[in-house]
Amino acid sequence: MARSARTARRKAMREVPRSIAGLRARLAATPLPGAEAARADRARRMLDAWLGTAERHGVPYRDAVRAMATGEVARQVAGALLAETMRDPPPIVTEAACAAGCAFCCILDGPDGGTITEAEARALHSALAPLAGHPDGRDWHPQACPALDPETRTCRAYDARPLLCRSFLSRDADACRVNAEGGAAEGAGLLGAHLDYLAIHALSRETLVGLVKVSTFALREIAAASVEGASCDTALARARHTPRVLDDTRRGTARAASAASRPRRAGRDAASGPEGENRN
Ligand code: SF4
Ligand code: SF4
Repeated sequence: MARSARTARRKAMREVPRSIAGLRARLAATPLPGAEAARADRARRMLDAWLGTAERHGVPYRDAVRAMATGEVARQVAGALLAETMRDPPPIVTEAACAAGCAFCCILDGPDGGTITEAEARALHSALAPLAGHPDGRDWHPQACPALDPETRTCRAYDARPLLCRSFLSRDADACRVNAEGGAAEGAGLLGAHLDYLAIHALSRETLVGLVKVSTFALREIAAASVEGASCDTALARARHTPRVLDDTRRGTARAASAASRPRRAGRDAASGPEGENRN
C-alpha cells in the first residue's frame, strides 16, 4: 500500500463513524489484503452502492452496520448478481446437469463443509430446527449435509440454503459423484457471484474493524447442530470459524477461479471455474 493510502487508512480507522457517510469514508480507505485489485475495487464499488442506497432511504446507521456484519449485504448483492446471471445464462448454466434428487454436491468435504455468513447460518437454523430428530442426510451418506432429506435427496432448507449452494453447479453429475468419492473429475464449479460474495463480506469485515465482530461459520456444523436440537446461539457457537478461514476461503476460491477448472475434491469453496464467472 502506498504511503498516502496507509495514512488515509490510519486516519479513517481512528475516526469512529457515526453515520453511513462515515462508513463510506472508511470503506473508501480500506484495502482488501490478498485480493486482486480489480476484485477488491469491484467489491468496494458494490458495497458503497449498497451503502449509498441505504443512506438515501434513511436506513439507520446501526442497521447498516449490522447488515454488513451479518453478511446480509453480501447475500443481497451476490443474490442480485446471480439473478442477473440467470437472465442471460452462460453455458455452465444452460448445460448444467443439476436436477432435484441429484445430491453428490451435498456430500461435503472435510469437517467444515463450506463457509457461510451469520445471516445464512441463522436462516439455516430457522429452517432446520423444526426438523430436529428426523432422519437427515447422514442417513444416506455419512458425509452428507444434515440439511438433506435422506429419502428424496433434496434440500430441506431450500429457500434458506446459502449462496455457496446456490452458486454451485455442474455439467456432469457423474463427475460430481467421482469427486464425492474422493476423485478429481472436472466439470463442476461455482458461479462468479460467489467470488464477489466472499470479497464483499471480507471487505465489510475490514471496514468494521474495531466497531463490531464479523464472523463466518461452518455449513456442516450449523446444519448438524440445528437438526440435533441446539438453540441458535449454541449452533452459532459450535460452528463459528476463526477469522483466518474467510481469508483462506477467499484466496483458495480466487486461485481456483484463475485456473482452467478445479476438481471438487478441493472443496466446494475452492471449486470455481472461469466458465462460471459473471460477465458483468
Ligand atoms: S452440482 Fe453435481 S451433484 Fe449437484 S445437482 Fe448439479 S450435477 Fe448434481
Ligand atoms: S444446505 Fe441444502 S443444498 Fe446446501 S449442502 Fe446442505 S442439503 Fe445441499
